Order: sequence, then C-alpha cells, then structure tokens
Amino acid sequence: MKPHLAHFRFHDCLEDFLLPEQRKQFIPYSFPGNPAIKDPVEALGVPHSEVGDFEVNRRSVEPGYQLQDGDRVEVFPRHSLDGETRFIVDVNLGRLARYLRLLGFDTAWRNDLLDAEIAQTSVKEERIILTRDRRLLFRREITRGYWVRTVLPDRQVPEVFKRLDLWQDIQPFRRCAICNGLIQVVAKEAIVDKLEPLTRKYYQEFYRCAGCGQIYWKGSHYAKLMKKIEQFRNHA
Ligand SMILES: [Zn+2]
Repeated sequence: MKPHLAHFRFHDCLEDFLLPEQRKQFIPYSFPGNPAIKDPVEALGVPHSEVGDFEVNRRSVEPGYQLQDGDRVEVFPRHSLDGETRFIVDVNLGRLARYLRLLGFDTAWRNDLLDAEIAQTSVKEERIILTRDRRLLFRREITRGYWVRTVLPDRQVPEVFKRLDLWQDIQPFRRCAICNGLIQVVAKEAIVDKLEPLTRKYYQEFYRCAGCGQIYWKGSHYAKLMKKIEQFRNHA
C-alpha cells in the first residue's frame, strides 16, 4: 500500500527544533494509516509540551485529529504555561535553578535527579520542567515543559524569564538559593553567635532560611546579585 503524504509547517519558536533547511516552509511527511496529529509532530522533533494550536488546511483542529492524505498542517507554539509558576529544573541547569529561587520561584532541583523522577515530580507537583534535553519532553506524561534554547548559562536566565514572562512576578530573596526554602526575617540576637565580627558590627537586619537555616543579610553578595539581575533584565 502506498504511504500517505502530508505537509507540516512549524511557526515561530517551534522552528528552533528543526534543521535549518526545514524552516520557513512546509515539510513533507509520509505516513501509513491515520495517526493522531501529535504523533508526526513529535516524529519531526518537536516536543508536545511546546505546542499550542494546530491548523489543518487552514482550519483549527484538536491534537487528537487524525491525519489524512494530502493534509497541510500548521503548528503554532504554546504561548503560556497556565497554572502556578513552579519549576523542576534538569540537573545541568543548576545556575538557572539558583536564580529562579533567588527571584522567588518555587524550584525543585538536585544534581542527581533522574529523568523519570523529573517527569513524575512535574506531574505530581504541577511543576514546569526546564531542560536542555528535548527528549525528556517527549515523555507521554509531561504536559508542562520548556526546552531551554541557549547553552550559555548567562543567557539562560534572560531567555527563560523573557519567554515565560517571569520578570513581572519576581520577589528577590524570597527563597533560599541552596534549598528552595522560604526566607524569613530573624532577630539579630537569635543568630548573633553565628556571625563573623564585621558582619555583626555593620549589619542589623538578618534573614534565615526556614529550610536549611542559612543566614542572609544585605551585604556585598546582595549588591552583586541585584546588579546581576539588572544586567539579565536589560539583556532580555
Ligand atoms: Zn535553605
């Protein structure tokens, strides 16, 4: 039996998943039977978690639409990730995870997370997966995920914050960079014995992580961080 032929065109940021010669045009795709439209999309390398709407022959269809011979399919990116903005970040994006926490976003991360664990936690705790490994986003159970395009750590923060529209929701120093715990104000007397002499002398306001007990104050690290954040924001 002769296989069927359809054509796929991916729009905007979905082109990032294609080879250069596949962009800005309809890609031929041959197939047996009548697969659901989301299957060939993944076969062409685009994770379902990044896909929004489909149009077939210029009419909007559901992801369960069954592909027909001769169809011309257009695929559009998903524009927002609905629901709470909570994350689980892949092992090799530790720096990004740190900044997400420092800017107040609930972010699960460990350097020994397994793919299966990331997927399960994402579903169970409704966390958005951030990863450089697009294959991870092909897992069936995942509905919320974003493939971080750039490999450069310093570019990842501006990319993700811009694409997921996070700048408007930042709350600097709400969460601990080390453990994701909430940071609370703490009386100086309660922690004074843990401070270095100069810190004790020059600072009056202190904060402590409810998770791991790490102590924070608005010293030189804080100034440096705020400067870095400003650079990231201007980069976006
Ligand atoms: Zn902590």
